[in-house]
Amino acid sequence: MPTRTVPQTNVIIVSAPSGSGKSTLVRRLMEQVGGLVFSISYTTRDPRGEEKNGLDYFFVAKEEFQAMLGRDEFLEWAEVFGMHYYGTSKRFLDEARASGQDLLLDIDVQGARQVRAKLAGTISVFILPPSRQELEKRLLLRDGRVIERRLQQAATEIQGYAAYDYVLINKELEHASQCLNAIVLAARLNGNEPGSAAAPECKRLAESCRTAAVEKEIQPILETFK
Ligand code: ADP
Ligand code: 5GP
Repeated sequence: MPTRTVPQTNVIIVSAPSGSGKSTLVRRLMEQVGGLVFSISYTTRDPRGEEKNGLDYFFVAKEEFQAMLGRDEFLEWAEVFGMHYYGTSKRFLDEARASGQDLLLDIDVQGARQVRAKLAGTISVFILPPSRQELEKRLLLRDGRVIERRLQQAATEIQGYAAYDYVLINKELEHASQCLNAIVLAARLNGNEPGSAAAPECKRLAESCRTAAVEKEIQPILETFK
């Protein structure tokens, strides 16, 4: 994918409860839109399944994570679910800026709050499943089992949606994927990149996902988690 000359690096934050389809949507975004540096987080948790060190996460010991904290190497960090530390290394932002690309952060609600406080003009997207029942189905599809704790965590996490610029309801995959792509492309248009013939449609699609625009659809989803 060729690098783009951009006036500034857009920082795109994506958060979602586990199982809502975030990895699927992010993978499509990276492939279909490109021009993005994906920040690989550091975590103190153990790898799951097929996860690879340096690809999915940098898996480090607690002592190493704390040493990085001491050296002020993190843009943000959080103790997620009160169990493990997760952090975003500052070097991914440096890398994105140096290569003229946008930065994509897959982080939780606490991390998103810290990045917004540190960097102006971030673009944040919260991905919601269409219902608790559908989230259960997807967790089953992904992991072969549903862990009740994950559903409880999802119910807590989704309370944080209102702080995000966009809320993407991942019902029909193709549509949700087009919407996420459009949000990133629309941010580039705002940065005055030359627009193509598709630019107005892209802006329209992105605007349709503004948090205020989907508020009415969000409430019935939240009800299914009560
Ligand atoms: P996450 O990264 O949020 O944990 P995944 O991207 O791994 O979630 O998706 C969880 C499961 O749900 C996968 O099996 C994926 O193929 C499926 N999935 C994702 N989006 C949709 C969708 N819109 N409709 C149906 N199934 C989906
Ligand atoms: P998992 O352990 O299921 O991969 O991720 C658990 C949660 O941690 C997810 O909500 C994910 O977005 C979040 N997460 C992953 N990396 C980071 C990070 O670097 N910082 C923060 N704050 N959260 C992260």
